[in-house]
Amino acid sequence: MSAFNRERVLSVRHWTDTLFSFRATRNSGFRFLNGQFAMIGLEVDGRPLLRAYSMASANHEEALEFFSIKVPDGPLTSRLQQIKEGDTILVGRKATGTLITDNLIPGKRLLLLSTGTGLAPFASLIKDPEVYERFETIILVHGCRQVSELAYGEGLVTSLGSDEFFGPLMREQFIYYPTVTREPFRNRGRITDLIASAQLFDDIGLPALDLETDRIMLCGSPGMLEELRDDFERGGFVEGSHSAPGHFVVEKAFVER
Ligand SMILES: Cc1cc2nc3c(=O)[nH]c(=O)nc-3n(C[C@H](O)[C@H](O)[C@H](O)COP(=O)(O)OP(=O)(O)OC[C@H]3O[C@@H](n4cnc5c(N)ncnc54)[C@H](O)[C@@H]3O)c2cc1C
Repeated sequence: MSAFNRERVLSVRHWTDTLFSFRATRNSGFRFLNGQFAMIGLEVDGRPLLRAYSMASANHEEALEFFSIKVPDGPLTSRLQQIKEGDTILVGRKATGTLITDNLIPGKRLLLLSTGTGLAPFASLIKDPEVYERFETIILVHGCRQVSELAYGEGLVTSLGSDEFFGPLMREQFIYYPTVTREPFRNRGRITDLIASAQLFDDIGLPALDLETDRIMLCGSPGMLEELRDDFERGGFVEGSHSAPGHFVVEKAFVER
């Protein structure tokens, strides 16, 4: 049996000249936990060209959704950004990853801290009803350089907010905090600085980070992850894994090659 399924592209949306998202059919046997990733890609010259991608759709959804970067000379994304409705993509049969709620010890607030396409696993998690049962408050932070790069996340939060099921949950329990580093915007600055200065908590009108109540998931650039991991560990937060749940979990949004 092949290691991947062939799926049909259902729709593609370009958000900026560096970001796009697409939906594809989902093999009924493809199971995943919200927050996980799989290897996906294209067949190029008769061979699979695959990269890690977080599922941006939730596991209760019929179709798969992905949120992607366009790397100009990237082996995969220089091609993937050309896909159209009806094209075939490859999706690995096995999903994995650390950004799952079982890797966190119980808490009251869940902070989802992302930059760029690091939003993708959290797009899946905020569509998981269980997340709203496990945590009283969910804070989604998305940092980008430009305002236009927030559009996918803003659209998702808006549409979930008007959803019959998720709307009431989100009004009670969900806080969305987009922030931008290179343009004027209502929230400005790097996530690392916003956490270190507690500006984030001042802005949303909630108490500062607390080891007793807060659980954190991180997905972003390797540099941002390293800085935040150090900051959290200094504050006594312990990194969780499949073998031992902790206060926070980390996944790279991409690897520097
Ligand atoms: C666990 C995991 C989950 C991932 N999930 C996603 C996802 O949901 N969406 C997504 O677009 N990518 C994701 N990636 C990155 C993805 O695997 C590829 O690197 C990306 O699709 C580019 O592929 P490429 O072959 O075009 O270029 P590559 O040769 O893979 O990358 C070339 C260079 O582009 C830069 N780069 C690659 N990906 C990104 C990115 N996402 N954001 C900013 N810079 C980047 C890096 O500097 C990298 O060295 C994930 C990576 C990992 C490890």
